[in-house]
Amino acid sequence: MSIVISTWKHGYVANETAWKILSSGRKAIDAVEKGINVAELAPEVHTVGYGCYPDRDGTITLDASIMDDKGNCGAVTYLQNIKTPVSVARKVMEDSSHVMLSGEGALKFAIEQGFKEENLLTDFSKDSWEKWKSEKIDKPVDMHNHDTIGMLAIDNSGNLAGACSTGGMAFKQHGRIGDSPIIGAGLFVDNDIGAAAGTGYGEVIMKTVGSFAIVEQIRLGLSPQEACEKIIANTKTKIPNIDEMPVYYIALNKQGEIGACGTKKGFEYALYNNENGNRLIEANII
Ligand code: ASP
Repeated sequence: MSIVISTWKHGYVANETAWKILSSGRKAIDAVEKGINVAELAPEVHTVGYGCYPDRDGTITLDASIMDDKGNCGAVTYLQNIKTPVSVARKVMEDSSHVMLSGEGALKFAIEQGFKEENLLTDFSKDSWEKWKSEKIDKPVDMHNHDTIGMLAIDNSGNLAGACSTGGMAFKQHGRIGDSPIIGAGLFVDNDIGAAAGTGYGEVIMKTVGSFAIVEQIRLGLSPQEACEKIIANTKTKIPNIDEMPVYYIALNKQGEIGACGTKKGFEYALYNNENGNRLIEANII
């Protein structure tokens, strides 16, 4: 029973690669890493990896995390000049004694591990930054300038894994780190129970430790859909101006049931399973 679920429209293509890996009998951890690489490497995906929107200083800084079925995790924050941060996060998980590396240290580690240092700014990245500067737009999130890829999968052996990767919010403060590399906030996997990943306004997801909270609700007996809805409802009561700071989650349990919910309309996720193939679905809002 393989399943892969991922956030936003870019998840659809990423799912195709992840599904091929799952169908060949490989592990969920390989599927989420390689699936996410597809979005990271695509210059037309402007919110993840190569070709991202830069921060307000014109620099691309990337965050990513990954978690396997043994409870191991790895993360990178404020990583520059590497196209595939989720793969560096996996190396942190598997080839270092740490969970999270940041900035220059993360870059040094990546280079030592054989990753190539490259300029990630495309013409689109540079032009969007010039435009932002000239218009002095100070709006951190709209429906077009964020969008992490979060991906959760279950493999043929019934094991779970999850990962996420992001350029964070477009034109963010230089040095800002979002929820995606924070285990429990942007991502959480418990192989006995389920997995969840977040996207949207990272500060809200961090304040509410959203992904961990969802997995805990699944542990207490809720379905992934009920768990996502419950945590979105709680978030709405805690964050007064939530309308300006939308958040969204996807979730998957050990039985292969999925959930998705957000505070605002317009959140699409991609679901690939045996019954229906790959589909882009609009999530419930509450
Ligand atoms: N959660 C990401 C961040 O705050 C952005 C997003 O997914 O929309 O960095």
